[in-house]
Amino acid sequence: MVGAVSRAVMDVPGTVPAPPVEAPEGGATPDPVTSTEVRQATGIVYLVGAGPGDPGLITLRGVECLHHADVVLYDYLANPALLEHASPSAELVPLGRKGSGRVYTPVEITERMLEEARSGRTVVRLKGGDPSIFGRGADETAALREAGVPFEIVPGITSGLALAAYCELPITQQDDASAVALVTGRERDDKTTSCLDYDSLASFPGTLIFYMGVGRCAKWSAELLAHGRSPDTPVAIVRQCTRADQGLVRCTLATVAEVVKARGVRPPALFVVGDVVERAPDVSWFTARPLFGTRVLVPGSRATSTRLAGRLAGLGADMVVSPVLRISAPADWSAVDAAVDRIHEYDWLVFSSQSGVDHFLGRLFARGGDARRLGRARIAALGSTTANRLRQWGLRADLVPEESVVDSLANMLLEHARGRWVLLIQANRGREALARALEEGGARLECVAAYESTDELVPDPEVAAALAAGEIQWVAVTSGATARALARLYGDGLRRPRLASIGPVTSAALKELGYLPAAEASSHTANGLAEAILEAERASGTRARGARPPTERSSV
Ligand code: SAH
Repeated sequence: MVGAVSRAVMDVPGTVPAPPVEAPEGGATPDPVTSTEVRQATGIVYLVGAGPGDPGLITLRGVECLHHADVVLYDYLANPALLEHASPSAELVPLGRKGSGRVYTPVEITERMLEEARSGRTVVRLKGGDPSIFGRGADETAALREAGVPFEIVPGITSGLALAAYCELPITQQDDASAVALVTGRERDDKTTSCLDYDSLASFPGTLIFYMGVGRCAKWSAELLAHGRSPDTPVAIVRQCTRADQGLVRCTLATVAEVVKARGVRPPALFVVGDVVERAPDVSWFTARPLFGTRVLVPGSRATSTRLAGRLAGLGADMVVSPVLRISAPADWSAVDAAVDRIHEYDWLVFSSQSGVDHFLGRLFARGGDARRLGRARIAALGSTTANRLRQWGLRADLVPEESVVDSLANMLLEHARGRWVLLIQANRGREALARALEEGGARLECVAAYESTDELVPDPEVAAALAAGEIQWVAVTSGATARALARLYGDGLRRPRLASIGPVTSAALKELGYLPAAEASSHTANGLAEAILEAERASGTRARGARPPTERSSV
């Protein structure tokens, strides 16, 4: 799984004001650490279930804990996209997976948790699925209790149960199964005798779900057969459940070990044993979504690309969100302060982005002002994302050009702003064309840089590897600046995936850089961009709506 972590793009710690509507006292959510939870010299540990993979399947409580974490220790099974919920200043510690880099042992994980908590930090231990289901959660909490470190356990959706929804596999279907057993396919290496009673498991009146069953598949399946379970018992192997590469293969108890070997099945996979397997459709609601199995690189962060990511996720695409630009507060606020002081003189305030909204209004509030300072000025927001952000600050835009094409935007604005005093609130670079068009069109324009946008200099190694391996099918290019930054970071890596451009200006920038966009949005918005990818997929025949390859053939 490609890491979807994009910390560097997040605004620099402590510099980005949050809208007051969301965060009355400086925090978007209530602090999960209440007075009853003892936050003194000792910190606290939250064992948080990350859910099975789809980043939408974490609990609200889990997100709250991530918001407040000083350090996040995360398992390889936890989707790294969830780390976007952590504060930009939080330390993120991957605990590794076998075969790739440093891997923390259970003892080291416990030691690290204790050490962090003892130094007063708020620790989130983010574990795949539910922390208490085959997750050694109890071992970790025993150590915490013994050390006197306060902790809380936040449940998650365990992978074995999530498959019921995402594969439409009715594990408790009344005619076939009146019970479900969650079983380990791999007992601890230090156990001399098995705790599994195969006699009982073989005659269990319901569905068996094996976790960690890949390595010893031959053993557990042979044991079930030896204890009398029918060789024809249907089995489903479900790999990467709830993720964009979810796969399901059907076989039987007699053939499962062979199938695992022949297909080279790799963890994480679950084995569902029982008649209910026959009831799962070949194509579930999840795999039927039109962009299921398509991985899209979205340059930006969750904060800057919510709309696009949301739309693509709705179509079933898997997103890799990665930074190309870095947003930070201006090194010197004097220009913004001067504009704030003279704000009553402007007829129009034009906000070019949500970062502009946050930084400009954040500064105005920080200096003791509030929305009343804006007085009679009317407000234009370039695009609905910017307008939504204004709404969170309690302000309604008077003018919202939907499309971000400079000419149409300038014309629309000029209808109202010709001869008027206009303040264009933007980044330290970009939008020169807009400023020129407004000025030439007769607006009395002043520009202020409310934030700085600089290029991300270091390519994300996981993104680079995924691009090179052909694991990313599309790159969404949302502006000319993004095109240039992508080219600088990933160069030839952009030749394998297809490039989707948000509009003609961005397409021209791509062509100038030597890349040919495979799709261009006809409506120059996040929705339009997602639609363009969908249309191109349909046109190239790689994917017809609702006609995914049968799950039997999908890769497990
Ligand atoms: N606490 C986790 C389980 C950890 S044990 C939970 O509640 O889901 C690790 C095993 O979980 C893997 O070997 C695999 O059997 C299963 N697993 C976890 N996530 C999975 C996923 N997305 N798809 C399939 N199996 C998964």
